[in-house]
Amino acid sequence: MNREKSKALFEQARKIIPGGVNSPVRACASVGTEPVFIEKGNGAVIFDADGNSYIDYVGSWGPMILGHAHPSVVQSIVQAAQEGTSFGAPTEMETRLAQMVVDAVPSVEMVRMVNSGTEATMSAIRLARGYTGRDIIIKFDGCYHGHADTLLVQAGSGVATLNIPGSPGVPKSFVEYTLSLPFNDIEILSKVMAEKGDKVAAIIVEPLAGNMGMVPPVPGFLQALRDLTRKHGAFLIFDEVMTGFRVAYGGAQEKFGITPDLTCLGKVIGGGLPVGAYGGRREIMEKIAPQGPVYQAGTLSGNPLAMAAGIATLTKLKEPGVYEALEERAGQLINGLLNAAEDAGIPATGGHMGAMLGLFFTDKAVRSFEDAKKSDTDRFSAYYRKMMGRGIYLAPSPFEAFFLSTAHKEEHIEATLAAAGDIFRELAP
Ligand SMILES: *Cc1c(COP(=O)(O)O)cnc(C)c1O
Repeated sequence: MNREKSKALFEQARKIIPGGVNSPVRACASVGTEPVFIEKGNGAVIFDADGNSYIDYVGSWGPMILGHAHPSVVQSIVQAAQEGTSFGAPTEMETRLAQMVVDAVPSVEMVRMVNSGTEATMSAIRLARGYTGRDIIIKFDGCYHGHADTLLVQAGSGVATLNIPGSPGVPKSFVEYTLSLPFNDIEILSKVMAEKGDKVAAIIVEPLAGNMGMVPPVPGFLQALRDLTRKHGAFLIFDEVMTGFRVAYGGAQEKFGITPDLTCLGKVIGGGLPVGAYGGRREIMEKIAPQGPVYQAGTLSGNPLAMAAGIATLTKLKEPGVYEALEERAGQLINGLLNAAEDAGIPATGGHMGAMLGLFFTDKAVRSFEDAKKSDTDRFSAYYRKMMGRGIYLAPSPFEAFFLSTAHKEEHIEATLAAAGDIFRELAP
């Protein structure tokens, strides 16, 4: 596969953009390769600068649940653009998208739009601290909640891939109040809450972890979070930036039947434009400025193009049968991959929920970041490079989930499984 143009473009980019990329994981360093530069996308397929095409399982890291350049999303954005791209004043579209979120997500009675998932989690943490008058935040190893200072501790994903413990530039005192505990360990959590619960402002969690690869909560884990936070007067924050409108229309909280106090959203609700949101119970959300004292603002928040893309995306997702179809196709893909691995004698484990999938090269159950790190990451790198060579575009890290869109059809799944079958045989021990 010729990648000369991508190579040249990356060289140019590296001279004036750190690492040649505007977000670290895109650099593909951890899988021993260089990124391809994308020229365009259509449905489930993306095209690089050299004219190669790929079946895309990254979907811009989650947002593109309708596939690329979906006609109704494009049309909505074009129409909005023709009427002006930003006013810094209220528009009706903001209320429309807010209403769709409130109608969809069980915990959300009021919602504030921001511009990224990072802003959503950062603001939700500030609100939790402002409301409770407490400082301590509990998070879990391997969960990523954006790159805000307080949350950059044991943060999975890009940080894990690069093997950076937290980050230089984050003062120690900023993370003094952040405790990171093992995911799925109810015992340790109970102990910590018994000791410090009355100083804890919030527990923040990815209800279905997706930034250490996909790791589901063990039975009882989310309920324990709900019970312990309630008992100690702390908030439970679900970071559904990845899972929201992806594992179900109402997110992971709908699937698991656990209602948090606050929910963070992003990715899918922006339909491919920069959007985040945080919402929750009315009496909590009323503490946000200008209604309350907790300050949070944004010049481009509720941007008309972003609202238009979000409304168009959610409108499509709301149609009957969408998630059932995604769920079925995702099952077909992950079961096909696991069967192919087994046939080739390659240890693998994985699963899916809605349109989110995970695969680890290990025969042990993965319940925590520690477990995830024990999977065969060298085998993943080889698998990644070979799949790229066969026109299958995966996230360039063993610590990432992968994603389906409504544009992925039978033929895409079949082509993917055929490639994976061959590659697993090549990689067999
Ligand atoms: C992607 C992600 C974020 C950060 O969102 P950005 O838009 O990249 O700032 C936060 N939390 C989770 C769970 C995510 O997957």
